[in-house]
Amino acid sequence: MIIGVPKEIKISENRVGMTEAGAKQLTLEGHTVIVEKDAGVGSGITNEQYEKAGAKIIDTKKEVYAKADMIMKVKEPLPDEYELMKENQILYTYLHLAAEPKLTKVLVEKKVKAVAYETIQLPNRSLPLLTPMSEVAGRMATQVGAFYLQKDHGGKGILMGGVTGVKPAKVTIIGGGVVGTNAAKMAVGLGAQVTILDVSTARLEYLDDIFKGRCQTLFSNAINIENSVAESDLVVGGVLITGHKAPTLVTKEMISSMQKGSVVVDVAVDQGGCIETCRPTSHTNPTYEVDGVIHYCVPNMPGVVPRTSTYALTNVTLKYASMLAAMGVEDAVAKDASLMKGLNVYGGYVCYEPVARDLGMEY
Ligand code: NAD
Repeated sequence: MIIGVPKEIKISENRVGMTEAGAKQLTLEGHTVIVEKDAGVGSGITNEQYEKAGAKIIDTKKEVYAKADMIMKVKEPLPDEYELMKENQILYTYLHLAAEPKLTKVLVEKKVKAVAYETIQLPNRSLPLLTPMSEVAGRMATQVGAFYLQKDHGGKGILMGGVTGVKPAKVTIIGGGVVGTNAAKMAVGLGAQVTILDVSTARLEYLDDIFKGRCQTLFSNAINIENSVAESDLVVGGVLITGHKAPTLVTKEMISSMQKGSVVVDVAVDQGGCIETCRPTSHTNPTYEVDGVIHYCVPNMPGVVPRTSTYALTNVTLKYASMLAAMGVEDAVAKDASLMKGLNVYGGYVCYEPVARDLGMEY
């Protein structure tokens, strides 16, 4: 199979869909890997490194899409790439289609075989291809929150850990999954006072155990969220209902109840966000204010730490890329139920139920 790796074009997206080690493995397995010129530069991987690993460097994105049987990338295709995709081409990448009705329509019309990293799900319900990027984004959420809480960055001017004799910042994390846990690890590490809310009592028990009393756990309901948000300096949104658009849990009124110069980081923005006032931003213009509260809602947070993220991502994507390349989509998903959950569009239909339901499309 010919596997194409285009250069990412989302703003400040420096990750790449395959490392040189991935190119070497797939080449050794008998496939041809074609990489768009300079696709890896943002992640510190040169064209020469890909060539040494057996890949071919191709000058244009158009050529990569035209030649490849499978496109392997990081973020969803953007409008400039829509016309480049072709019928029966396998598209293996993050898609987040519940928040992307236009792209979904294109994939359906073009009969692309679209496998979404974020919905591949193991029998224990974990999402192995989302996990490493959620670790990165969760850890960044606290880092970014601390940055914008500084007065010189528009914040109220508070140090996360406080100092001796002075209170630390209060941090509320909504959703105690991978994003939430990693955001909490960093916030606790900085000495902040942290509350994590989740609807899963099993998850709250787990968090209580691992943080050994250094984090408050709270059941997620409207009243607990309202109270916790009102007194927080930093709110991190990290909820997920797999495949669905994120539920709105923090209302505009709750945002208005926060002190001016407070910060919200809605990591769940890629699924539509769990904060009512959330709208997607980009790394070049990452924040805006609502009622004096700074909002940071970048859907590709890991894109600016590519030397960490590219390697963490491809550690987990390669296994399934290998299966798709060796067997084709049909046999690969028939063999592996986890991969089957990743198939979002096939043969002109949405075939992942939560996406079809959220977008009101035929399933
Ligand atoms: P996860 O499945 O590990 O965790 C989600 C948690 O949300 C679960 O523990 C679940 O019980 C909880 N939850 C569901 N409904 C809730 C509610 N009403 N109140 C409180 N908690 C609730 O998911 P994750 O890997 O942590 O990802 C979270 C979100 O972050 C996803 O939308 C993911 O796509 C997104 N994400 C964004 C970026 C970015 O760059 N912006 C990067 C990685 C992940």
